[in-house]
Order: sequence, then C-alpha cells, then structure tokens
Amino acid sequence: MTSDLEGQIIVYTGNGKGKTTAALGLAWRAMGRDLGVAVVQFIKGKWKTGERIFAERLPALTFLVMGRGFTWDSDDLSRDRRAAEAAWTEARALILAGQHAVVVLDELTYVLNYGFVPSDVVIETLRARPRHVTVAITGRNAPDELLAVADVITEMRSVRHPFEKGKKAVPGIDY
Ligand code: ATP
Ligand code: MG
Repeated sequence: MTSDLEGQIIVYTGNGKGKTTAALGLAWRAMGRDLGVAVVQFIKGKWKTGERIFAERLPALTFLVMGRGFTWDSDDLSRDRRAAEAAWTEARALILAGQHAVVVLDELTYVLNYGFVPSDVVIETLRARPRHVTVAITGRNAPDELLAVADVITEMRSVRHPFEKGKKAVPGIDY
C-alpha cells in the first residue's frame, strides 16, 4: 500500500521541452499502480491543454488548474498573486493530507520566481509531508533552495526546438 513507499521530491527544470510531459508521464505510471495522483497546474487556467481535457475523462485523477484572474484589469499582478496563493493553498492541503501518493506541482517555479509564494513556505510543506508522498515540481529556473531539498533533479537541456524557426506551439504536442 502507499504507506510502505518512501516518497521523493522530484524536480524537472531547465529550458528544454519535456518537463510537464515528464511529470504527466509519472502521473500515468502511478495511476497504473492504483496510486492516488493529484496534479496542480500553476498556470493561468485560460487555455485548455490536452492534459486538462483528458483529465476531465479520468475521475480517479485530481486535476486542478490555477484560477485565471482578469487580464483586462490594471492590477493584474496582484490578481495573479492571489490566484497563485489560492492554488498553493489547495496544493499544500493535498500534500499534507497524504491521500495522493503523487502530487505534481506543474510550473510551480514561476510562482516561486515571481515571489507569489515564498520558497521557504513550500520547502516547509515538503518537509512536513507524509512519508509516502512524492512531489514532482516542474518549471524553468528552479530556485537553489528547492534543488537543495530535492531527491531527483533532472535538467532538460534544449538542443533544438521548432520555436527557434518561428513555428507555433502544436496542439496535442505542446499543449
Ligand atoms: P512540455 O509541456 O512539452 O513538456 P515543458 O513543460 O518542458 O514542455 P515549459 O517551459 O513549461 O516547457 O514551456 C511551455 C511551452 O513551451 C510548451 O508548449 C512547450 O512545448 C514549449 N517549449 C518547451 N521547450 C521549449 C523550447 N526549448 N523552446 C521553445 N518552446 C519550448
Ligand atoms: Mg511545462
């Protein structure tokens, strides 16, 4: 059962493509083992992604997307901050409850790098989590203090990407 497992802190960072898809691959694998999985996406929930559409068909998967705020408003950043804080509050509760053996915090690094949620608050939660819970965090420029507590760190290095030739993001491949 899940309580026999020793959870890990996994960080997928770097500029290359593959961070979110690696975390979702981990979620896929864990669900195959009947582990509880939660995914929290710390990106504005305006755009539908392929993973979000598919998650709606998977009742066993807990899938949360950060609220989007109203971009027409001049104090957009404070709305983003509040949306990030709200998403973090939900993520924190999921991690501490221990009902999900795998919790993915997708694009959390942006929230940390903007200072919307302090890194030490996140690290304190990671330290306090039930032993069996694995937390996978994605996003570019993972802060050093987060890397310091990680068990697994994988840096995606971009060697080539169609974006460099001006190609647009492709549905089903990039989002
Ligand atoms: P993916 O979701 O495909 O695994 P990612 O999570 O590693 O990518 P992010 O940094 O979250 O990438 O960037 C989000 C978007 O940018 C995605 O649409 C992704 O395909 C695209 N992208 C990823 N790597 C690159 C790159 N090296 N150059 C340009 N665009 C990229
Ligand atoms: Mg990503």
